[in-house]
Amino acid sequence: MIYSETPLVQLNSPLLENAGLTLLLKREDLNHPHISGNKWWKLKYNLEEAIRLGHDTLLTFGGAYSNHLYATAAAASELGMKSIGMVRGEEVLPLNATLAFCKSRGMQLQYVSRDVYRDKKDPSFIETLQSAFGNFYLIPEGGTNLLAIKGSEEWAQQLKKEIDFDLLCLPVGTGGTMAGMINVLKEKQIIGFSSLKGGDFLRDEIRQWLSQPTENWRIETQYHFGGYGKLNQALTDFTIEFEKTYEIQLDPVYTAKMMYGIFDLIQHSAFQSGSRILALHTGGLQGRSGFNF
Ligand SMILES: *Cc1c(COP(=O)(O)O)cnc(C)c1O
Repeated sequence: MIYSETPLVQLNSPLLENAGLTLLLKREDLNHPHISGNKWWKLKYNLEEAIRLGHDTLLTFGGAYSNHLYATAAAASELGMKSIGMVRGEEVLPLNATLAFCKSRGMQLQYVSRDVYRDKKDPSFIETLQSAFGNFYLIPEGGTNLLAIKGSEEWAQQLKKEIDFDLLCLPVGTGGTMAGMINVLKEKQIIGFSSLKGGDFLRDEIRQWLSQPTENWRIETQYHFGGYGKLNQALTDFTIEFEKTYEIQLDPVYTAKMMYGIFDLIQHSAFQSGSRILALHTGGLQGRSGFNF
């Protein structure tokens, strides 16, 4: 799991200039060819723990396009471990690019119906899996647990040390990455952009991971574009334009929605002139080719 240093780029546009804002993008999508973005940080301490406990198999959950499954498969093969991916839904052949990659890295794919998948946190379901597959190190769906948050906290320390900024923006799925950021960046404002519809529950979800309650963060829930993995023409047009202007790819599931949200908030004068905004490119580009635009 070699970590490559990642560039920080400043995004320039007349809109930003007129608003007196500096927008920086941390290209964490470039930290590893396969275990990219926040997934590298979320897996780091989980992998250490799995090794420390003497496990030779990782088991985790995800949808058919999951960045987390993809990263876990890559990490397991890099560390010489076995991996089992519990995939939500029915098997579809030929495998899509995400699952084909997982399989190529030796991940054993097990499909579970949406009904059964809902029990993924249920201890008795985990026991059933243990009798079926033997001992494994369990990583929850999306990779969020205490050790994932520890990894995100370490990333936050690095950002704090290296970059001068007032506001942090990042996309949110489970909220694990954001919780780690909040725990460390006490002097900054933190804005998460929910990639899911009905993201209000994320506030409580995040609160439960915080080392102490703070008020310096919020979640924007109106940039979901119809829900997780969904998009519309406005988001597609924005993504194409952004990628052309800055020559940086975005992942329509997460980072494109955040970027759209940031520019929309700027248009609505939501940020104080003079602010330095740091946005996190959390990776996820493995799924980009699945979108035909
Ligand atoms: C998984 C993922 C997220 C969401 O991270 P959480 O910690 O679950 O909130 C954001 N961006 C990308 C690209 C991801 O793959």
